[in-house]
Amino acid sequence: MAGKDCVKVAVRVRPFNKREREAGSRCVVSMSGNAITIQDPRNPHTRRTFTFDYAFWSHSGFIRNRDGLFVAEEPGGRYADQGNVFNDLGQGILENALQGYNATLLAYGQTGSGKSYSMVGYGPNKGLVPTLCERLFRAVKANQESCQCQMLFSMLEIYNEQVIDLLSKGGRSPGGLRVREDQQRGFYVEGLRRVPCDSAEQVEQLMEQGTRTRTTAATHINANSSRSHMLISAQLKQIFTEENITKQSNINLVDLAGSERQRCSGLEADRLKEGTAINVSLTTLGNVISSLADAALGKKVVHIPYRDSVLTKLLQSALGGNSRTVMIATLSPSDICYEESLSTLRYAERAKRIQNKAVVNESPTE
Ligand code: ADP
Ligand code: MG
Repeated sequence: MAGKDCVKVAVRVRPFNKREREAGSRCVVSMSGNAITIQDPRNPHTRRTFTFDYAFWSHSGFIRNRDGLFVAEEPGGRYADQGNVFNDLGQGILENALQGYNATLLAYGQTGSGKSYSMVGYGPNKGLVPTLCERLFRAVKANQESCQCQMLFSMLEIYNEQVIDLLSKGGRSPGGLRVREDQQRGFYVEGLRRVPCDSAEQVEQLMEQGTRTRTTAATHINANSSRSHMLISAQLKQIFTEENITKQSNINLVDLAGSERQRCSGLEADRLKEGTAINVSLTTLGNVISSLADAALGKKVVHIPYRDSVLTKLLQSALGGNSRTVMIATLSPSDICYEESLSTLRYAERAKRIQNKAVVNESPTE
């Protein structure tokens, strides 16, 4: 049942925001099929085209309907709404998880480019995570005659290389929670609260709680939550009573810190420390992705630096290991963000080369 799967990569470009509109921004990206082209605003003849597994045009051609949903202006229009993104990315993750594969979804992009919109969503425009959970419980309920199901839900934040439990009041203990290594489980967070869930409503409440904790904690220490990584994990265990088989799947859903270069001009010591430390996880993720991409190209790679950061330790199996992995890279359409968007596309291109070896996690029920 083992096979090589490449990391699937999607790009999504959002509408202009208020600031960009007021600045009279120009759109420098265009899409055609799964190809995306970006144009250098200072040098219009310089264009780069990248091809991904999916390209979502969410920049124009939409309206806000009576329910507050952003949808295509006309039926069949090219605007990719939250439902389209779920059908292309979320549905596969759902099916993989139900089959017993580990699955990971990562959102990468600069602050304000639409990572949280795509992953979590805002108001009625629900993102991948809540819709995934809703469908997951629906599928599980439809199978409950033949299959018993347990789900454990957890939510953490990596800030300054510290792990903060977003579902526990004691989560913000000094120094954060410890990351440990186990022969079988790999890296895990010691003492992380994992809440048994059996409905999508329950998951949504937990997500609200976690998001609140993330925001208030950030305000409290005068930090910016765009510099932290949020990792939601759902561990799904399905016990097939008749066949006497247990399938297990770990689903990792990651809203990464803003990818913009940390600008450190005249910052006070704390901020500087914060900037560099946050970079450790994001920089190491980049290094791990580059090494894996090189390995996939047949270059000799001796060492993949998973151990160099908390994030890459926790995502080890998602990157080059036992997981089906999807990355959504989000972009601003604006000429002002050209440099950052180009760097996001380059990053995503490297991620595309990573090969995983996913297997179905099943064993006789104990
Ligand atoms: P990030 O998490 O990357 O910092 P957000 O997801 O919070 O960015 O998005 C920034 C703003 O842009 C939000 O107000 C969000 O509603 C809006 N936005 C992002 N993506 C889309 C989209 N595809 N369609 C409509 N609005 C979007
Ligand atoms: Mg965000």
